[in-house]
Amino acid sequence: MKETQVRIERHINELSKFTSTPHKGVTRLTYSNEDLQARNYIKETMKEYGLNVREDGFGNIFGKLEGILNDAPSVLIGSHFDSVPNGGAYDGTAGVVVGLEVAALFSKNNLTPKYPLEIVALIEEEGTRFKGGLMGSRGIIGSLSEEDFKSLKDKDGISTEEAMSKIGLDTSLPKKRDPKTMKAFLELHIEQGPILEEKSSPIGVVEGIVGLTQLEVTVEGRAGHAGTTPMDRRSDALVTAAKIITQLPDLAIDEGEGTVITIGRLNVFPNGANVIPDKTVFTVDIRSGKEENVCNVIRKTKELIQSYSEDTIQTSVEQHLYIQPKALNKSIRSLLKQTSSELEIPYCSINSGAGHDAMILSDVTDVGMIFVPSKDGLSHCPEEWSDAHHLANGVQILYEAAKNLTETKS
Ligand SMILES: [Zn+2]
Repeated sequence: MKETQVRIERHINELSKFTSTPHKGVTRLTYSNEDLQARNYIKETMKEYGLNVREDGFGNIFGKLEGILNDAPSVLIGSHFDSVPNGGAYDGTAGVVVGLEVAALFSKNNLTPKYPLEIVALIEEEGTRFKGGLMGSRGIIGSLSEEDFKSLKDKDGISTEEAMSKIGLDTSLPKKRDPKTMKAFLELHIEQGPILEEKSSPIGVVEGIVGLTQLEVTVEGRAGHAGTTPMDRRSDALVTAAKIITQLPDLAIDEGEGTVITIGRLNVFPNGANVIPDKTVFTVDIRSGKEENVCNVIRKTKELIQSYSEDTIQTSVEQHLYIQPKALNKSIRSLLKQTSSELEIPYCSINSGAGHDAMILSDVTDVGMIFVPSKDGLSHCPEEWSDAHHLANGVQILYEAAKNLTETKS
């Protein structure tokens, strides 16, 4: 355990050096020189741990420990290795490193699995260079087609395949992966929020990825001169919007079960200091692990907004985005919990408020995910930090789970 922890610390530290913004966090864009450096480090470590290394036509990296069965589907463990601009050393990378250390334990204990084990490091989860995000996993399952992949360009007009060639990646390698070659996917990720730390829970077993909706609300009133319109003759679109907005957080609080609501954007028209606003437009983002919660809060939000419509104030709500919550595989969730209990590592159930590669891969294979605490809940910043001891717990849990899922014999 101690050995694992020391190696985790070393890997995280080494990989954090592959950044285009030294001393200002990790900036590792897909197919950049820093990608190449991290890629080489990951591939070298995979070889050192006895894995057969290959890349696919997206530049995703796979290190495989062959199983006894021929042509059998693999149990995959991993995460992504790109970053946001000026991000931290743990987002994504922690999951890749933990995967590597699971493989190290297989090798150290001379285990031969029945089904193969593959450690994976995925590209462009953050969408920093080519937008969209979750590109490695969407490519693997084919929801990002080869044509769409090829048509993507970065802000300088460089296409994906040009960028790949520049760092020596082979663009002709197979892209989409046959789902039949995957038995399960396990991912460890940092929580990127404060819940585990507050609960002093070293592990969160992810029940599901939250569903979310985004509403755009328009409130229309009547413009008027700020000096000459008496207070009782006003139809102020901003004041009405403000009354609505201050009541929205309570809808999520009353709904409970981790439901959250965010009013992230507010535009005021005409936005002049001496004009009564005649129109405001704001967004409402509602998320929860349970579809029922999301739907209840949408309904209550619409009712609340509707109740402010009158002769001189018009309100309308448009739904721009709706993503269903996704429950992760039940038997793998149970396996992860049982394993944590057996190892006497306390855990709690948690929902993921952010999208992850695991969510994408759950469309084609059985997926399990665990979180480790993020210091002060911080992520996507240089201060991002997770305890290597917690990551080592993650290695223990995923190692035992992987042994079970690959039906290992020693
Ligand atoms: Zn991530």
